[in-house]
Amino acid sequence: MTAGKKGNLLIVEDEKKISDITKAYLERDGYHVSVAETAERAIKLLKEPLDLIILDLMLPDIPGEELCRLIRQDSDIPIIMLTAKSAEEDRIKGLGMGADDYVVKPFSPRELVARVNALLRRTKKSAKTLSFNQGSLVIDVTTHEVKKNKEPVTLTPTEFRILLTLAERPLVVMSRHQLVNLVQGYDFEGYERTIDAHVKNLRQKIEDNPKEPVFIKTVYGLGYKFIGIRDEK
Ligand code: CA
Repeated sequence: MTAGKKGNLLIVEDEKKISDITKAYLERDGYHVSVAETAERAIKLLKEPLDLIILDLMLPDIPGEELCRLIRQDSDIPIIMLTAKSAEEDRIKGLGMGADDYVVKPFSPRELVARVNALLRRTKKSAKTLSFNQGSLVIDVTTHEVKKNKEPVTLTPTEFRILLTLAERPLVVMSRHQLVNLVQGYDFEGYERTIDAHVKNLRQKIEDNPKEPVFIKTVYGLGYKFIGIRDEK
């Protein structure tokens, strides 16, 4: 966690009145809060380290459900849905698409703060770490901390996302195109070759010998795959 003492949150909501008051309450409670008025803007902000997303169902560009599904394709970040639809089936649908909790509008900002606190407590308890090669590489998916031989390693957000994207899919060859797509936020702002530079830096940080990597292997003509061996729990 960086800027916010209690964590970094993203509110995706186009109604300024609602995002303003929600942001104010959450900031008073110690969070750092960013606001996106559209799904497009939200997708850009997903590159930042985030601890939780508050997502409105009614957005001007794509439905909140759709954005939730997009986020869930490669992230298990906690999501609270804001919904004006209170029918039971909508709630169930909301949770089915990958949201962790929902709040029905109109809601009290205090209630939302309590839900955020509760959800973060819950997810922290089940904090997910990925450990490889007898603990020589440990990735904390929740806090974004990476340890190499028990020593903390500082990765850039892009390096972390590349590492996590690969490590979550052991032995699966990921093309540069796929990595740009997943890591740069689902669109094509980056050039595929910049992935090579990031992987090179990543190897300097996590490999004993970057020339003979035991974690990120180059598959010539195709891309990269993660070859670390996951430790038993
Ligand atoms: Ca809205």
